[in-house]
Amino acid sequence: MPEHWIADRTRCFDASGIRRVFELGAKMTDPIDLSIGQPDFDVPEEVRRAAVDAIQSRKNGYALSQGMPVLRDKLQAQIDRQYGHDDRQVFVTCGTSGGLMLALLVLINPGDEVIVFDPYFVMYDSLAGVAGGKVVYIDTYPDFRIDLERVADAITPRTKAIIFNSPGNPTGVVAGREEVRGLAKLALERDVVLISDEIYRDFCYEGPSVSPAEYNPQTLVVDGFSKTYGMPGWRLGFAHGPAPIIREMVKLQQYSFVCAPHPFQLAGAVAMDVDMSPQIAAYRRKRDLLLAGLADDYELVHPGGAFYVYPKFPWGTGMEFVEKAITKHQLLIIPGCIFSHHNTHFRISYAAEDSVIERGIEALRKLGKQG
Ligand code: PMP
Repeated sequence: MPEHWIADRTRCFDASGIRRVFELGAKMTDPIDLSIGQPDFDVPEEVRRAAVDAIQSRKNGYALSQGMPVLRDKLQAQIDRQYGHDDRQVFVTCGTSGGLMLALLVLINPGDEVIVFDPYFVMYDSLAGVAGGKVVYIDTYPDFRIDLERVADAITPRTKAIIFNSPGNPTGVVAGREEVRGLAKLALERDVVLISDEIYRDFCYEGPSVSPAEYNPQTLVVDGFSKTYGMPGWRLGFAHGPAPIIREMVKLQQYSFVCAPHPFQLAGAVAMDVDMSPQIAAYRRKRDLLLAGLADDYELVHPGGAFYVYPKFPWGTGMEFVEKAITKHQLLIIPGCIFSHHNTHFRISYAAEDSVIERGIEALRKLGKQG
């Protein structure tokens, strides 16, 4: 096939690093898998039942592009209660990823600059690039905090958006209230759209997660059900923000994703009434188990949320360490270069059974000491 058939925008993504880990892992019989970005708990039973009931009662047609009222109205009421903004509207997306993609396509003109904090969730720079944006990275090493002065300096007349994510993937770091407020106000003052990815909002172990929308009513929030309810395969998310942005995103959804899966929207409405605090408490405990296990051998920034820990490599270059982890210890972890311009850290996901985390700790201790 002629090379020129493939559009240039495909060069915005390079999945080779993660693929390499998966390929190495796929050959193993019983790997210690701490690479996965999804909860190990299942969708609560009543929610699974609601999905089956929806399918059996023939709710299998197209849904409204903005989302079915049973879910959308419930989300809108929750958001109104939380923020009380006149102009804040919500709609239902195909996962948080769907919301992100629509947001960037609706907001970014070719050549617009998009600020992304490094390390970052892999989709941010890829999707900003697909939309024609120029990504401006702001390094947050070594503490993964946002330095407002650096953000202020990075904003130019071409800056259209800043993408913010707390609790963060891959670091697990939770931004403090002052940090969030500063960023929210700065975006408002400098006429830049703040996109806040709040998918890990419920996985916040030391107090509630703070949204910049509390301080900047124009914040565009992308959020979803994948992590909180253990349903990443159901592709259910939502986005809320200024009504004119949401209107355009719904319009584009109509011509692309069309709608989020209809039966899962009905089940999503049921999920919103389920108390997930036992699952969250279990994840806090898993985090503490992992942190205690790594304390003597690894340097890391305290992760207050999500389900990731992002330690520094104790030796070697990034790929060297990760390959040894995989080939010698059957331990699957993700090298930081996937999420960053630095290749000094690696991501561990503790969304796994305790026995797997314990095996992981044992392998990491050996690896950290002797290589
Ligand atoms: N944002 C972040 C920070 C994530 O980690 C993920 C999933 N790994 C997503 C968005 C996408 O999630 P969804 O399944 O809702 O598309």
